[in-house]
Amino acid sequence: MLQFIPWIRRANLLHILHTSSGLGLSSVLLSSERTSAGLVSNNKWYSDIHSPTLCVDNNMASVQQPPSRQSFHPQTYHNFLVLDFEATCDKQLIKPQEIIEFPILKLHGRTLEIEAVFHTYVQPVVHSELTPFCTELTGIVQSMVDGKPTLQEALQMVDDWMRKEGLLDPKVNSIFVTCGDWDLKTMLPGQCQLLGLPVPDYFKKWINLKKAYSFAMGDYPKSGLPFMIKGLNLQHIGKLHSGIDDCKNIANIMKELARRGFTFKQTGSNL
Ligand code: AMP
Ligand code: MG
Ligand code: MG
Repeated sequence: MLQFIPWIRRANLLHILHTSSGLGLSSVLLSSERTSAGLVSNNKWYSDIHSPTLCVDNNMASVQQPPSRQSFHPQTYHNFLVLDFEATCDKQLIKPQEIIEFPILKLHGRTLEIEAVFHTYVQPVVHSELTPFCTELTGIVQSMVDGKPTLQEALQMVDDWMRKEGLLDPKVNSIFVTCGDWDLKTMLPGQCQLLGLPVPDYFKKWINLKKAYSFAMGDYPKSGLPFMIKGLNLQHIGKLHSGIDDCKNIANIMKELARRGFTFKQTGSNL
């Protein structure tokens, strides 16, 4: 595991330099001590949100454990909610774009395993006919969106699912994760504004995986998912630009970054 040690040093240095989100992560990282064996953190913050029996050894330079006890770097969230919208599109920019696929993966905050899935296609209203370009890009055909919930209905379904999953409990600390800022900074607020719908607060802060990757690896992934998948020697799952498949690939990238010792923190906000 020696090859991870310089990587971890760089990742945590970059992290310390990027602690502007006010989540207290800087104190987490700055309270860490480096030993000859690697990074050893103060566990208190972690045991505050996780059962002490779940606490793991933070020594990321020695992650050789059986899979069932795989030691991921502790995170500050109980859950990550991986989200990736697909929207109406054509070769030229179309306006307004409308969400046509709304997938969310609920990941466990420590193991990064998928615990629950929300998924619906969404009926576009302004440009109700999908373009051949959009179908080619996303794999979504007309029959997959016809008769499906509108965005307003889909948002209600998300809210019901969030409640059922315990994600609306104020004691549960979760955050959305997207590949880029477009989903929650542009797409959802823009369509909600057009429809006169409120944006729930839980969509107003997020982790941009591209920024997280660049903090961890020192390399900004301009091409997005394919770049990160290649950079981490992972296998691409499913079809690029299928919302649910993109979510699974985002989850795999997160899991690999966590396995390598990276702690995710908020990067974006509309609050
Ligand atoms: P993605 O999450 O990267 O699959 O993209 C989200 C949405 O952005 C897609 O559903 C499209 O509406 C739009 N989009 C992504 N890539 C392109 C592209 N090459 N040309 C036009 N629109 C795109
Ligand atoms: Mg996307
Ligand atoms: Mg996508």
